[in-house]
Amino acid sequence: MINLDKLRPINFNLNSEIKTRDAIKFVKKNHGFRKIIVCPVCKSKKKELYIIQNKIKIVTCRNCNLTYSEVQPQNFDDVYSSEDFLKKQINAYDKTRKYRIERFAVERIKILKKYKKKGSLLDFGCGTGWFLEEAKKHYKVNGVEYSDSIRKWLKSNLGITSFKDIAQIKEKYDIITAFDVIEHVPSPLNFLQKIKSKLKKDGLIFIYTPNIDSLGFSYLREKNNLLCPPHHLFYFNKNSFQFLCNKVKMKIVETQFKGLDIGDIYGLLNRQKSKKTANFLKMNFEKLQEFVDRNNYSNHIRFIIKNKN
Ligand SMILES: [Zn+2]
Repeated sequence: MINLDKLRPINFNLNSEIKTRDAIKFVKKNHGFRKIIVCPVCKSKKKELYIIQNKIKIVTCRNCNLTYSEVQPQNFDDVYSSEDFLKKQINAYDKTRKYRIERFAVERIKILKKYKKKGSLLDFGCGTGWFLEEAKKHYKVNGVEYSDSIRKWLKSNLGITSFKDIAQIKEKYDIITAFDVIEHVPSPLNFLQKIKSKLKKDGLIFIYTPNIDSLGFSYLREKNNLLCPPHHLFYFNKNSFQFLCNKVKMKIVETQFKGLDIGDIYGLLNRQKSKKTANFLKMNFEKLQEFVDRNNYSNHIRFIIKNKN
C-alpha cells in the first residue's frame, strides 16, 4: 500500500515550487539559459504554447507531439552539481529509502523478471542506489551517476560501481533502466541512442517518465510539481514516445500507466487548506488512482522497449 503522507508530506507542493524557483535563479546567476528553436526530437519548428511557468514557455511540437521547455541551462552543472543540491538529494532519499525499496524497487524487479530472469543490469541516473540495492540480489549491477560525491557514496555504502559517463563503459547489458531520467537530459534522442549503444542485441530498456496526457497535468496546470524546468525539460505522452522509439529503431513491447495524480492533487489541496476535499482524496486514494491508471490517464508512464529486428 502507498503511504501518501510519506510521499506527499504537508509542504510537498510548496517545497517543490521553491526548489524549482531556486534552480532557475541559480542558472540565471551562473551560465544562463539557451533558447531551443527546433524540436529536439524531430527538428520541426512548428509548435504551440502549452503553458508558461516561472516565465518559461513550455511548448508542444505540432509534428511529433513532444512537449518541451523552450529554454535549457547552458551548463547542466548549474542544476545538478551544487553541493547543496546533492546534500538535499541524499537526505530526501534516505528518509524514505526503506519504504521506496519495499514499495517500488521490488515492483520494478517483478516487471523485469517477466522478461529476464538473470543477467547484467545498468541503471542510468541511479542516484543513491535504492533500486540497485534491491536489483543486485537478482542481477549483476552497475550504475551511471554524474555526481562524484554520490558515486563515492555508492561504492563505500553499497559496494556498487558506477560510472560518471556512459561512454566510459565497455560492456553491453541485458537490461538498462532509466527511471525518471529522460525528462532531465538535454536531448532525449541522443540519450536513447547512447543507452541503446550499451544494450545487447536482445536486451531491453525500461523507462519511467511523466505522462503529460494525464489527470494530474490537466488539473494542476502550472501548480504541477512535475512541471519544473530546468529539472524537467521534456514531457512525453504515448505518441511522442512512440515517435522517439521509431527514430532510434526500437519498439515498445509494454506500456504501463501508473501515476500519483491523486497524491499530487492531494498535495496541492493540502497546501491550499482545502481540508475536506484533501481528506476525501486521502481516504479514497488507492481506488481513485486505480481508476485513473485503468483509463491510461496517469501522470507517470512506463515503457519496456527493445531493438527492432
Ligand atoms: Zn517534434
